[in-house]
Formats: sequence, C-alpha cells, structure tokens
Amino acid sequence: MINLYGQELSKLEALMVERGQKKYRATQLFTWIYEKKASSFDEMSDVSKVFREELNRDFCLNLPIVYKKQESKDGTIKLLLELEDGNKIETALMPYRYGNAICVSSQVGCNMACAFCASGLLKKKRNLEVHEIVGQVIVMNKILEEKGEHVSHIVVMGTGEPFDNYENVMDFIRIVNHPKALAIGARHISVSTCGLVPGIRKYAEEGLQTNLAISLHAPNDEIRNKIMPISKGYKMEELMDAVKYYEKTAGRRVTFEYIMLKDVNDSLECAKELVKLIKGTLAYVNLIPYNPVDENSFVRSPDKAVHEFFSYLMKHGVNTTVRKEFGNDIDAACGQLRAKEHYEKQKH
Ligand code: SAH
Repeated sequence: MINLYGQELSKLEALMVERGQKKYRATQLFTWIYEKKASSFDEMSDVSKVFREELNRDFCLNLPIVYKKQESKDGTIKLLLELEDGNKIETALMPYRYGNAICVSSQVGCNMACAFCASGLLKKKRNLEVHEIVGQVIVMNKILEEKGEHVSHIVVMGTGEPFDNYENVMDFIRIVNHPKALAIGARHISVSTCGLVPGIRKYAEEGLQTNLAISLHAPNDEIRNKIMPISKGYKMEELMDAVKYYEKTAGRRVTFEYIMLKDVNDSLECAKELVKLIKGTLAYVNLIPYNPVDENSFVRSPDKAVHEFFSYLMKHGVNTTVRKEFGNDIDAACGQLRAKEHYEKQKH
C-alpha cells in the first residue's frame, strides 16, 4: 500500500506515469486530498471508476490516530498520535498572534541524547515515514477546522533529529510547501538540528527559502560536550564553518537556539563567549526558558540571568529574542507526554 500523504508531487507524477496514467493525475489527486480534503478515493468524482478501483487497491490515505489530546488554557494543543505499527509520537500546536505553529516530530524517539531533553529518554526506534510527518499536520488541521482555523507555520522541532531522517524531512517540506498541497510558505517552515554538520551543508544546497535553527546551547566545546554528545562528533569550529557555508549558499540567516540552564551556560562570561563565537555570522539568537524534565536535574535560569544575558547580547549587536512559553499546564516539553505514557505503561 502506498500512502498518498507520503508522495511529493514529482514522485507522484512518476508513479502515475508508471501506471500508464497522465502526469496531471498527480495534481488532480493533490487537489482532492489537500484542497478538497477528501478522505477516500470514492469521493474523487472526476477520476474514472476503473482508476478509483486501482487507487483503492494499491493506495491509502491512512492518518495517525489521536491517542491522547491535551489542551492548555492558552490554546496550546498537544497530541499523542498512534502510528500504524503501534508506535506513538507527539505533535504540538502553539497559537501565536501571527498564526498557528505546529511542532512536528521527525523520528520515533531520538538518539542524540542531549542531557536536558525528554525526547532522548526513549531511544530512536525508527525514522518517521513522509506520510507520518505530513499526517501530523493533516490531523492537527482537522482539529483546528472546527474553530475555522488551520496550521500556518511549521517547525520540525518535535521528537527526533530531522537531519538524521534527511530525505523524508525534505519530501515533507516539499509537500507542505507546495501550492497545490498545503501551500505553507517556505518562510513559515523551520527545521531545527542539534548540529549535524553534513546535514546543514546539504540543506544549504537545497535551494529552499525555509528557515534553519541550530540548537547551540553553549558558547564553547567544553560546555557543549557536557550537555550534547553530538558535540563530540562535530566540533564548534566545524559547526560555525557549516553555518557560514549555509549563509553564503542558501542566502539565509540561521537562528541559534540557546536554552538557559542555571549555572551551566547562563553566566555573563558565557554571553561574552557567545558574542565572540558567532561574530562573523548573521545569526539570530533565541534564548529558550528551560522546560524542566522530571528525569534530570537541570534547573531553568532565573529571569534576572536571562534578562542580563539578553541585554549583553543585544548591546553587542546580536539580534536576540526570548522564546514565548506555551502550555505550562500540560506536558508541553518536548517528549514529555510520550515518555510519561511509556513509563506509566511499564508501571502497570
Ligand atoms: N533534534 C532537533 C530538533 C528537536 S529538539 C534539535 O536538537 O534541534 C527542539 C528544540 O527543543 C531544541 O533546541 C532542543 O534543544 C530544545 N529542547 C529540548 N528539551 C527542552 C526542554 N526541556 N526545554 C526547552 N527546550 C528544550
């Protein structure tokens, strides 16, 4: 069975031609599933009965099932979705003033093992298929539809390392960005990596206008080595070279994400080092208030420390923002809902 939500247009066109169909069939199918939101092939009235039968036989439009849904007072929605093989993944929706941003997962579990992150509590089981990443957006859109809304922004910042599932994430981007599919503007799509250098270089060459965020979280190798094992594979210098290559090749700036962890990376000394480190790039810095995770002992930086860090960066010409927080009353930290579900099952 081929899941239609997993086919980007040029691949679907090739599939159609292979089956003796005209190329335009692919666009026709795209229109039916994304624009007209058809959930079965039988609804596709301008497709011949014979071909509809073929579609019913060889293709499907299966979506992940909503296993759990949490909704926060601030409008944040967190879903635990069940995949066809029983694996569960998380998806979150954050209602910003400028639109509805969905945070999608790219893998079942994660192998990057960042010390502060709840996602890595459960090791990677497998990559998500393209249709399973697209499916997260479709399912969220169905929920939002009831309020007359839809997903307008996408961040690939859920569980998993997107550049460890590179090709599927790229196909996902091509689908959601396509004008005949979800038509989400490239500048409304962001991919976040913990710093897989070959992935950053490849992404630079895609010719995309999408955004790139890099989880930096430290101003030097020493601190980064302590909290992000990936740092042992790719030194800071290599990472910065890749960032500069990306800026030059893609013509876009990156955003450095920097979680503020008390007594780990939040001193003014760190701010000073950070300014030096990213000098020569055009990068923004996004300071992230830490979302505490039960299973580790990291503590979020006090507001005062965040403010001083922020002021130091701004004063030294680094464009900085502090991330708005959502869903404090639900399990909104990355991987928290899924990990909880998993451990609860073990207890019983
Ligand atoms: N693997 C990718 C994308 C998933 S993580 C990456 O590392 O970028 C998305 C972002 O959330 C990363 O910046 C990650 O470091 C951050 N993050 C993880 N756990 C967090 C927590 N408990 N509180 C705040 N941010 C967290």
